[in-house]
Amino acid sequence: MTINKINMRWHFQKDGYVWMECKKGEEKIKVLTHFSSEDTSVEYSPFIESGLFKNFSEIELNEIGIIQFANKYGTLTTNQIETLEYWASNVKEIWIVISIWEGIIKSNKLALSRLKDWIDQQNESKINQYETHNISANSQSVSNFIQIINDTLNLNKINEEVYSTTCNLLKNHINNKLKLVSSEMYLNNKQLYLGYSPKSLLSGMWLQLALAVSEDKDFRRCKECQTWFEISPDSARKSKLFCSNACRSKNYRKRRAYAKKLFNKGYPSQKISKELNTDISTIEKWVKE
Ligand SMILES: [Zn+2]
Repeated sequence: MTINKINMRWHFQKDGYVWMECKKGEEKIKVLTHFSSEDTSVEYSPFIESGLFKNFSEIELNEIGIIQFANKYGTLTTNQIETLEYWASNVKEIWIVISIWEGIIKSNKLALSRLKDWIDQQNESKINQYETHNISANSQSVSNFIQIINDTLNLNKINEEVYSTTCNLLKNHINNKLKLVSSEMYLNNKQLYLGYSPKSLLSGMWLQLALAVSEDKDFRRCKECQTWFEISPDSARKSKLFCSNACRSKNYRKRRAYAKKLFNKGYPSQKISKELNTDISTIEKWVKE
């Protein structure tokens, strides 16, 4: 059994969150607030989800997108006023770092072109209003990253200098984020191991990214629920398409029902087999059930 090195319990409010408009001096800001005054918190283990940091990095940067994430996972911290801009800047920051890691260190072409599109949008000021606000508020480190992306794209290749500068930037940037993580020895089923406990959901997601970088992990989107999950390096699980058994069963039931529907409409098995990318004998078994 693989051990989850991130030991952390977090909570979310079961009846959800809303944006509350507040005044900060003359300025009006929106703050993420628990929907009711009653405590409906539910405790859970966020890092059972192996790709949570990647899911977080792809939140839609608008009021609804952020609320959807918060309703499922809770606030990012316990001691911050979490404004829309605060969320947007944290989502974008981890997105940039993940894309740099995947695009430059792991040479993933898709990640690089994603970065290029984003830079182009930024130059044309077409990015989301919350993003525009927070890019300027971002740290020096993030602007160094943006410079690196520009250099890489201009060169059209990753040379040794770009690679080692990127490694250094990643190291320093992630180290800064790990200051809110403590480590200790744990005991699980007679096995001693070194585990980590982050102080907040946000620092936990940076830790998850740090472990992914350090162990060169790969991730895939679940074919059913679109959630990112880690692909285990052991070959038996490498071909895994679903994040969980529940998603695999759900997808199976859906495909079987769809095959029956097509069959009842008079589609020949061969056509159904092609449409569902499933072999003919399986289709024939399904439609007879
Ligand atoms: Zn899934």
